Amino acid sequence: MSSVALHPNIDNGVKKGSSDFSGGTLRCQCTGDKVEIRVHSNVAHNHACGCTKCWKPKGAAFSVVGVVPRDKVEVVAHAEKLRPVDENAVIKRHACSRCGVHMYGRIENSAHPFYGLDFVHVELSDEQGWEEPRFAAFVSSIIEGGGARPEQMDAVRAKLTELGLPPYDSLNPPLMDAIATSVAKRTGVL
Ligand SMILES: [Zn+2]
Ligand SMILES: [Zn+2]
Repeated sequence: MSSVALHPNIDNGVKKGSSDFSGGTLRCQCTGDKVEIRVHSNVAHNHACGCTKCWKPKGAAFSVVGVVPRDKVEVVAHAEKLRPVDENAVIKRHACSRCGVHMYGRIENSAHPFYGLDFVHVELSDEQGWEEPRFAAFVSSIIEGGGARPEQMDAVRAKLTELGLPPYDSLNPPLMDAIATSVAKRTGVL
């Protein structure tokens, strides 16, 4: 067992989503005047992410993040509180300027393989049925983020595997293949 807190939604087992679930409302963590995002679809490719850019709950080594089509994401309350975390990042994350929670991340570069998808954290919603996390990405990066010490990494990977989240140090093979396919089509290789 690792003593590393991975994420509250995965540490005690992963709860399966439901295939007919069609979305819900994400709310920031302010006590009042919450930013609300209506997501009109389930997420896909939901996963634990160890990168240093994703928003994570306090004390967690990983975020849990999935994607939805950008036209399914609608800011329905307190849009005025949203600010980009980094204007120049590939995934432009829009955070609540008060509580700091990232409400959605959007790719604005139309040449990017994942253009058209927004990144969201479904734990910000009270609804049940969101697709469960299915793999772990950028696992080695939790060392950089201070989530684990190098000597804890074997235990972290073992725990992720036990939870049914195969650990990868980049994205999982389907997403890495999708990126490479997009690049190969653009360059004429495919
Ligand atoms: Zn907030
Ligand atoms: Zn990440």
